[in-house]
Amino acid sequence: MAKIEFRHVSKRFGAVEVIPDMDLVIEDGEFAALLGPSGCGKSTSLFMLAGIYLPSGGELLFDGHLVNEVEARDRNVGIVFQSYALYPHMSVRDNILFPLRFKKTPRDEALARVKAAADLVRVTELLDRRPSELSGGQQQRVALARALVKKPQLLLLDEPLSNLDASLRLSMRTEIKSLHEQLGVTTVLVTHDQIEATTMADRIICMRAGRIEQVGTPDDLYLRPSSLFVAGFIGSPP
Ligand code: ADP
Ligand code: MG
Repeated sequence: MAKIEFRHVSKRFGAVEVIPDMDLVIEDGEFAALLGPSGCGKSTSLFMLAGIYLPSGGELLFDGHLVNEVEARDRNVGIVFQSYALYPHMSVRDNILFPLRFKKTPRDEALARVKAAADLVRVTELLDRRPSELSGGQQQRVALARALVKKPQLLLLDEPLSNLDASLRLSMRTEIKSLHEQLGVTTVLVTHDQIEATTMADRIICMRAGRIEQVGTPDDLYLRPSSLFVAGFIGSPP
């Protein structure tokens, strides 16, 4: 499992500074949510955690090591995107197997891992199908299995539920939360949906325009919002 530290992390794209100065610690095993309106820098922060973007300044530490000095393979991060991003020409089995392709995992063991990951998210019956033959919810489960197959130290979820219909979104919230409880993997959820953040995460990082407005438990944010922005964005308890 992994502990994450942002120390004065900044990120700019050309002349535009999207994250000016971010300080944040995410504890080992925690379920944290980055919550804020569209464009506030949530995905950018997540992509830095994934090693997809490098910080422009400051230090981003992964278990005490600078993220850019740890090989992606050793960092072992699982990531799920809003769009699922499954490979359309591959079976569900091969999609879930894909992250193991560079590992020297014997084929039998790799297939056993695929089976275990598929069992976890209940897609075992779908292993021979193609993504186009699955519903949105099933595709998102496959994306989760693919993110979990390497037994990641860090699970990153970027708006994983926003393409699902309302009832599915509700059940997937509970499923992802119980997956976290079973596996204990450090999980960072990016969402613009305050209900999603408050029902799933232990701690919420509320962001506005590239800056952290408040960090706290769902109750902290509901009962003791630090600003009108947080109060307005979080609303009242469900
Ligand atoms: P969120 O996920 O909170 O909606 P993002 O992190 O995607 O926000 O984007 C934050 C800001 O950074 C936006 O203004 C966006 O246009 C800008 N941005 C994100 N990625 C890039 C990029 N690769 N190049 C230029 N600007 C980007
Ligand atoms: Mg985003």
